[in-house]
Amino acid sequence: MNLLKNLYFLRRYLASFFTYRCVSCGKNVRGNCLCKNCAEKLLPAVIPPENLSCAYYYDGPAKETVVCYKFGENYDFCRDTICDWLLSAFKKFSGEKIDIAVCVPSFKNENSRLAELSKEFCAFAEIPFEPSVLKKIRETEKQHKLSYDERRLNLVGAFKAESSVSGKTVLLIDDIYTTGSTALECSNTLYEKGAEKVLVLTVLKTKLS
Ligand SMILES: [Zn+2]
Repeated sequence: MNLLKNLYFLRRYLASFFTYRCVSCGKNVRGNCLCKNCAEKLLPAVIPPENLSCAYYYDGPAKETVVCYKFGENYDFCRDTICDWLLSAFKKFSGEKIDIAVCVPSFKNENSRLAELSKEFCAFAEIPFEPSVLKKIRETEKQHKLSYDERRLNLVGAFKAESSVSGKTVLLIDDIYTTGSTALECSNTLYEKGAEKVLVLTVLKTKLS
């Protein structure tokens, strides 16, 4: 068993002795970042396209957990819960033979929280994590300020893939699937370099997309 997995189990074990505040409602909770009540409010996402899987809808406690992970100061414990969610969403691809995994890159920031999360997930899913295969080569506007068409244009040519993806099935990991424009642009970049298949796995999905 590798180091990341051991650390995960150690953190989970230690967490069961400590009281935390539920990320969503603030109630005291042990061993998890969401209390039982809030965990029951999670809405599993129903995803039609076969190459996309997401754990929950971007709403309520699920949204608060991911927002805490992305922007909060004490985010480590949320990461373990989110890693569990990714593993359950990943079951949809159990019949696939995945060669490598990458995450949506950020510009000039390879040690992003998404990369940390993806690395931990890949240790459990036993997929080689190769983040350097997909890079972001220029800065872009924040997507949430833009319309659907603007989002697509904003990202054109923003990513670059290595030709080592040729012939491979690639798992692309992201935190939130909104209009799908980021996943689409990254997938196209990987396909242009000869990827055989790109599967997209995200933690959450907005209800409108
Ligand atoms: Zn709660």
